[in-house]
Amino acid sequence: MEAIDLDNVSDHRGPSEEGESASGESGAWAIGDAEELYGIPRWGQGFFSVSDDGFLNVHPAGDQRSLKVMDLIKGVRGPVLIRFHDILRHQAERLQRAFAMAIQEEDYKAKYVGVFPLKVNPYREVLETLFTDWENDYHPLGFEVGSKPELLIALGLHRGTKRFILCNGFKDKGYVDLALQAKRMGKPVFIIIERFSEIEIVLKQCKLHGVTPNLGIRVKLYSYGDGKWASSSGENSKFGLNTMEVVRMCEYLRANGLQDSLRLLHFHVGSQIPDIRTIKGALVEASQFYCQLRLMGFPMGYLDVGGGLAIDYDGTRTLADSSMNYTMEQYARDVVFNIKEVCEMHKVEEPNIISESGRAIAGPHSILVFETLSKISKSVDVMGHFSTRSAPKIIRDLQDILNNPYKYNRLERLYDARQKKEEAFALFNLGYMDLETRAAVESLFWRICQEIHGTLDESRFTPEELWTLDRTLSEQFVCNFSVFQSLPDHWALNQRFPIVPLHRLNEKPTVNARIVDITCDSDGEISDYLGEEAQNQTLLLHTLNDKPYMVAVAMTGAYQDVLNSSHNLFDRTSEIQVWLNPDGDPGNGYKIVRNTQPAAIGDVLRTIQYNRDDLLSCMRESARKHGEVCDSEVVDSFIREYERQMNASTYLDPSD
Ligand SMILES: *Cc1c(COP(=O)(O)O)cnc(C)c1O
Repeated sequence: MEAIDLDNVSDHRGPSEEGESASGESGAWAIGDAEELYGIPRWGQGFFSVSDDGFLNVHPAGDQRSLKVMDLIKGVRGPVLIRFHDILRHQAERLQRAFAMAIQEEDYKAKYVGVFPLKVNPYREVLETLFTDWENDYHPLGFEVGSKPELLIALGLHRGTKRFILCNGFKDKGYVDLALQAKRMGKPVFIIIERFSEIEIVLKQCKLHGVTPNLGIRVKLYSYGDGKWASSSGENSKFGLNTMEVVRMCEYLRANGLQDSLRLLHFHVGSQIPDIRTIKGALVEASQFYCQLRLMGFPMGYLDVGGGLAIDYDGTRTLADSSMNYTMEQYARDVVFNIKEVCEMHKVEEPNIISESGRAIAGPHSILVFETLSKISKSVDVMGHFSTRSAPKIIRDLQDILNNPYKYNRLERLYDARQKKEEAFALFNLGYMDLETRAAVESLFWRICQEIHGTLDESRFTPEELWTLDRTLSEQFVCNFSVFQSLPDHWALNQRFPIVPLHRLNEKPTVNARIVDITCDSDGEISDYLGEEAQNQTLLLHTLNDKPYMVAVAMTGAYQDVLNSSHNLFDRTSEIQVWLNPDGDPGNGYKIVRNTQPAAIGDVLRTIQYNRDDLLSCMRESARKHGEVCDSEVVDSFIREYERQMNASTYLDPSD
């Protein structure tokens, strides 16, 4: 990794700073209005703010020290993912602190151990930060793995004997064997039985290696979550043992001399649980399971409450799928309190609490920044030569609708205009209308729509139908990124992410816009923005000028990096790693470690079985044949460009 000092970042391509000041119409627009419009204080949690000169600032440590995001992307082309490692660390510590506080407040008699689920973000940069030894009094964060590859990473990064390794997921002999051998070496590894048949593998391998395992069982609770990820729990979930299997498992463990190995009970109600009541319900049920097992004589000692701790992506503090009605601190208190209450009832010792929060730790740490390349709008004025009285009747009718706003009500005008447009299309299809007349009809139609749209007022009753004009008339901002690569949960689950321009926030945004990506897929767009139900299909952005217009999507740190797909072969973006300078020089206290180039086209082609050298030699071969019919300079130039593009990023290069 190469460390670059901010002041030394020089190859400047980003928008220039001068001349970015507010335009004339921004008189009544204040920084506070921008913060409100884009919801920054609500989802930003103190990590983001707007500077007086209208730039998006980041506060990686959650304090007043800030950095202009625009400065970070100087010299970078194409879409870029920025990771703020201090935010990552801050979130992990905040969760540990929340549990420490709750344990103290409730006078709880056992400790808290956090583990990070690798599934949420297994990238090396992220894990290296999370699993660094920090100086604090908390039990160091452990690993939760759900597959053999994840276990290999955890074992490779594991140092010492303190960090827990929890082995979830479906397991084969190799997985179990590796986990047991790590336990034999003194690592705190727990094997959590997900299916009944796994215990037979465990028993066999334990005998083979002479290891006493730490075992856990995952239970299928009757309580289940709501929200988009609800199906990981409940009776029909594919994970965990049902009550009958738990009882059979107890018998099996006793019969095979493993009764002293059952140390942990695990459940997971699903991710992004918006409602704290769901979590409480599951906690009570799981605590009852725990106490029953303890009373049956198993040593136990750990209750693992899984993940589910949500993020307030839209900042509404509601039961909406992308929100939550509680805070991290309330979550910790509820976990501690409910477990304690059930244990008191049974006079069972309180268990150590393990939680597997991934989204809440990793989600806020990264943002995706991309550039708007152009816009697609509906109306183009082509009325020119129809201004005379000689215009066809249909044109005159539309002009009549346009010029007499008070003759009919707005809905009538819209319906009439639509009918005229339909008539025009029919005439055109029958061959009775020429291209220019059709263009004039469309132009008039959109002018009528715009005129009606201009009269809409949120504070007055407006028929729902008229609000659809918001979306219909919106301008599409074509942006240099792929939803499938960078925001897969938006595509698959319509999950909302906060979106905010990086600059011009001191200028009133006036364009009703929708962000579309550069894939050739109509699903490649952001179709849902923060805001009320009827008006969340568009986002107010700024009029494009001749300078780059940069937009950020925030809170992309959980799941998006690894669920990505390379639709249209748009692949990994570049990445910038930002760290607060540990030397703490307050004036220039940040360090940028820029270490990831975007995927090159040649590398992406290799993943789908194309060898770049083979392709090149085929190119040369066929070019040589053509060399007989054309100039060799033409052939050489062609081959050079082909090779050059093999090394290019998969995204558009706006500087070319
Ligand atoms: C996915 C998963 C998690 C992480 O859940 P979050 O809601 O992201 O915190 C935790 N535990 C298990 C077993 C999981 O499958």
